[in-house]
Amino acid sequence: MSHVLELSQVDAYYGKIQALKTISLEVGQAEIVALLGSNGAGKSTTLKSISGLVRPRNGSIRFMGEDIGKLAPHEIVERGIVHVPEGRHIFGGLTVRENLELGSFTKRKDHVFVKRTLEHVFDLFPRLKERERQKAGTLSGGEQQMVAIGRAIMSGPKLLMLDEPSMGLAPIIVQEIMKIIKRINAEGTPILLVEQNAKAALKLAHKGYVMETGQITMQDSAEKLRQDDSIVKAYLAYH
Ligand code: ATP
Repeated sequence: MSHVLELSQVDAYYGKIQALKTISLEVGQAEIVALLGSNGAGKSTTLKSISGLVRPRNGSIRFMGEDIGKLAPHEIVERGIVHVPEGRHIFGGLTVRENLELGSFTKRKDHVFVKRTLEHVFDLFPRLKERERQKAGTLSGGEQQMVAIGRAIMSGPKLLMLDEPSMGLAPIIVQEIMKIIKRINAEGTPILLVEQNAKAALKLAHKGYVMETGQITMQDSAEKLRQDDSIVKAYLAYH
């Protein structure tokens, strides 16, 4: 299978602290890849190194065959890598629709694209259509997560990176969000999904990587990881 994203032996530091130790991972064109691990394992730092927010010291990051390891964050966004960070970061004072339209900022001159993509987002999230003119700050946590994902879709991503989309949400809402992530992938977008909720993530992922203290300690198909005793004990028992 050809890979859209390939990290090879990536090291990253915060000052003297090494947060990533020789990380290698791949995301294929049709895949949802789960990145699992407990607090502080380095999952968010891995996403930040891909989107250029943290500069890797060693190793290479290739996206669709191009080395992107030294590009600026805005150049990486222009390549089609969209990062939905932990904590959502939506604009509470703007309406749902305004938040979504901001996502297509780089394509704002292409009115046909913006209109068509907005319709697609409302089709994925009918609830956002109902709340189109409502201030995003007044939405529930789950709806705000929908806005954050919808805004990412508005840019027409070629790779979607989601950092803990289930954080702080009720199980029923987590299920709803996960279903939509699966649909976005089925429609052709590869997804790198960071989750502490391993159970929810392994239900829809094709394969997964487990991180501990800056290293990848396990990688396998999602099906194998779901059956692995050590994973079940460490990450699945709590959810
Ligand atoms: P979480 O789910 O809590 O975000 P994580 O697996 O995403 O966990 P990271 O946020 O990537 O973990 O953190 C990896 C390590 O790097 C941790 O030891 C953390 O304390 C450290 N770290 C993260 N951000 C910074 C920073 N800005 N400055 C210094 N150290 C940091």
